[in-house]
Amino acid sequence: MKWVEGKVVGQNEWSPGLYSLLVQAPILPFVAGQFTQIAVDQNDTKLFRPYSFLNAPHESNLEFYFTLVKNGQLTPLLANLSLGDKIWVAEKASGRFVLSEVPDAQILWLFATGTGLGVFLSLLKTNEPWLRFSHIVLVHSVRYSSELTHQLQIETWLEQYPKQFHWVPIVTRELSSSTLGMRLTDLLLTGRLEELTSLSLEMKSSQVMLCGNPSMVTETTALLQNRGLQLNKPKYPGHISVENYWKLS
Ligand SMILES: Cc1cc2nc3c(=O)[nH]c(=O)nc-3n(C[C@H](O)[C@H](O)[C@H](O)COP(=O)(O)OP(=O)(O)OC[C@H]3O[C@@H](n4cnc5c(N)ncnc54)[C@H](O)[C@@H]3O)c2cc1C
Repeated sequence: MKWVEGKVVGQNEWSPGLYSLLVQAPILPFVAGQFTQIAVDQNDTKLFRPYSFLNAPHESNLEFYFTLVKNGQLTPLLANLSLGDKIWVAEKASGRFVLSEVPDAQILWLFATGTGLGVFLSLLKTNEPWLRFSHIVLVHSVRYSSELTHQLQIETWLEQYPKQFHWVPIVTRELSSSTLGMRLTDLLLTGRLEELTSLSLEMKSSQVMLCGNPSMVTETTALLQNRGLQLNKPKYPGHISVENYWKLS
């Protein structure tokens, strides 16, 4: 892997253990939806992990949005970085969780847990989804309402695309009158998500992208497959695209 040296130019701890890191690094152009590797030096080697870009390709600062994983190896080091610190970024991005791999449809459903939101913000910061899909539903499931981040950006889209953009925040461990308390899978099983958005999630009209916690991705994919939707594969277009942030143990 070829590394380029980057510099931390901004940090934000949105809520305890939930961070954005802004980085400047001379990487090669990437496509919204892709990820890269980021690394810090440790004992003469580079400790690295993959992270999705939250920024759009045209934005000058790279934004990485991550959760501090207790007993994790890299995230405690990322959380301790300061302005001006060195960070390594892979020169070339990777990944096929991009809109060119998603067939046309009337509705684009984006299902994220936690920091899985980031990759969808990157996609939505480009023009393509707004030009290709009549409706875009962004569902973000978090444990606590303080983890519903990037609200200014989301509010801008709600104002800019009032008929096209649907925002569905889910908070699972706190009662709130402005968010839903059900798990995403229950929202689908009960039909509540479709009721709320007045849209049908069915194969003839929908493309679904899922990102984040592998349990959510696996369980939701199974529910969608029960409705006849199929995974998108390079030679066999379907309706579901997935990105897992870690492996189910
Ligand atoms: C394509 C891709 C893109 C990714 N993009 C992001 C991103 O944008 N933001 C982000 O936060 N993470 C992202 N990840 C996960 C990231 O690469 C690391 O795995 C994560 O940050 C933990 O790193 P660590 O070294 O601290 O923990 P490790 O020492 O690698 O992990 C310890 C264990 O923690 C578990 N784990 C890993 N991530 C999480 C998590 N988020 N929550 C709970 N448990 C976890 C796993 O079971 C893992 O075995 C992505 C992963 C992939 C494969």
